[in-house]
Amino acid sequence: MTQTAQKQTVNVDLGDRSYDIQIGGGLLPSLGDACVNAGLTGTGIVITDSNVAPLYGDTALASLRDAGFKVTLEQIPAGEPSKNLEIMADMYERAIAAGVDRRGFVLALGGGVVGDLSGFVAASLFRGVRFVQVPTSLLAMVDSAVGGKTGVNLASGKNLVGAFHQPELVIADTDVLQTLPPEELVAGMAEVVKYGVIYDAELFAFLERSVSDILALDPAAIAHIVKRSCEIKADVVRQDEREGGLRAILNYGHTLGHAVEKVTGYKQYLHGQAIGIGMAYAAHLSADQHGLPAEHVQRQLALLTELGLPTRDASLDIDALRTAMSVDKKSIASIPKFVLASAIGSVDFGVTVPEPAIESAWKTQHA
Ligand code: NAD
Repeated sequence: MTQTAQKQTVNVDLGDRSYDIQIGGGLLPSLGDACVNAGLTGTGIVITDSNVAPLYGDTALASLRDAGFKVTLEQIPAGEPSKNLEIMADMYERAIAAGVDRRGFVLALGGGVVGDLSGFVAASLFRGVRFVQVPTSLLAMVDSAVGGKTGVNLASGKNLVGAFHQPELVIADTDVLQTLPPEELVAGMAEVVKYGVIYDAELFAFLERSVSDILALDPAAIAHIVKRSCEIKADVVRQDEREGGLRAILNYGHTLGHAVEKVTGYKQYLHGQAIGIGMAYAAHLSADQHGLPAEHVQRQLALLTELGLPTRDASLDIDALRTAMSVDKKSIASIPKFVLASAIGSVDFGVTVPEPAIESAWKTQHA
């Protein structure tokens, strides 16, 4: 990136739990001032991972200390396996040793793994302390840092324990995406494509026009997609904070995508890549069951492919995927629920389909 994008703010309107998401280049060095302006005080811990710590740990700590906070940096090993209860327990002890009390705070500096774990620490330590998200992956900026879902994995499944705990501030410094591995950037784009399909045909068209700018980290293109994604997620969460209904639309492509992750042991695909296959499947199923025009299927497949996301995997077994879908925590009475599109920009949630349609959409996808 040769220039940085100007700061923009998206407000997440949740009454007395409302907060701002600040988006732009070069925001990390003024993190401390932003925390002061958000009303934070006292002692905090910054939780980060072993990849992000050497890149941005010092800048974050210096900024917070210059602004008057007493903070320590606590590092976890990078990667999904760190989202566990053992590391949670260690973080509680480290926070207490660092002097965090009920008025203190937890700040997440990292991707979705750090954000989910830190948020759950913040939600549960002393029954809840203040929380700041500084997302450093694209996925975290456009998705996991916004909306208040926190949690960790159990041996029996992903994200099975957690809490809703909204942050007080989200700072998305888009400059840090320069060090994000390219495959992680592409994986994060799966969620951005999702926002286009579920909510915003204009965003989808922007993505179609801007693939090369996005992959080259053009500041204006990146700022636009992060801002628009945050606006859409904020709008959905405002209407349905605890997933009683509408929030389920955020799971477009995730019913099959989660099953793909599960049957491949969470090793073969990054989450966003599995969601690529899941969205391609949802597009075919939508054409078959929900009136999605064939052209809108093709546009989704073309965009995913241009971004470098997979749209199929003939080596997977639909029976194993079907079983995984029916035991997903979002299934009810073992019947998988889908988010299906009737057009790009318009979806319905909680849709069940006749049993044979599940396999025939998979066959069409792999024809
Ligand atoms: P991640 O946190 O593992 O980050 C991906 C990789 O990028 C890691 O190796 C990380 O160290 C590295 N990284 C992050 N920022 C970097 C940077 N700026 N420079 C260099 N390396 C960097 O994974 P993720 O994709 O960010 O998040 C996935 C997690 O998010 C999953 O655990 C998923 O369950 C969760 N999630 C939560 C929500 C929610 O609403 N809470 C939504 C979606 C996903």
